[in-house]
Amino acid sequence: MCGKVLRWLRILGYDTTSPKDHPNEDGITPNDDQIIRICVSTYRILISKDAEIIRKMQEITEKNLKTESNFIQKFHIPEYSRINSGNQFYPCLLLRSDEIGINMAEIYLHFHIELEYGIEIARCPKCNSILQKITKPNVDRDKIPSSVYEYHSDFWQCSNKNCGKYFWIGTHFERITETLKTIKDLYAIKEL
Ligand SMILES: [Zn+2]
Repeated sequence: MCGKVLRWLRILGYDTTSPKDHPNEDGITPNDDQIIRICVSTYRILISKDAEIIRKMQEITEKNLKTESNFIQKFHIPEYSRINSGNQFYPCLLLRSDEIGINMAEIYLHFHIELEYGIEIARCPKCNSILQKITKPNVDRDKIPSSVYEYHSDFWQCSNKNCGKYFWIGTHFERITETLKTIKDLYAIKEL
């Protein structure tokens, strides 16, 4: 999955993974067939800018549907997304733009994801783990700028001990809200 889209979906609270999270013993990231195998075995939706891997995923989906009629239902895609999408609905999406706002709008239109941002439901954009609220005295002051510590009273920390990244509602929060508004505007335009 594209890095920026991956981070955005995590910020919105979606459990996501990328090929880089699944290296083999030699540290090599999986190839297309291995990526598809991971998606199918864990029922994860595949989102990519690579038309070839999406074509392969569609092919595999059709094959699986022959043996398992409820194959697509296992991907936790809302039923109305499938119904409103015409003949065949695939658990994958080809992104055609380099603009994150357009990418997120496409994902929204296709899978009806929630576009509401709340730090309480967000996942760590770096490692996908859930965030935990942390009281101010327990914040490691070496890990955040001192001005941030001074001006903020609410902090969250990634629950993954190997990551431990800190979060607070700062200017990045405004940027996220702004981009979400752009996405919603795009959706409204498409609806007309
Ligand atoms: Zn993390």
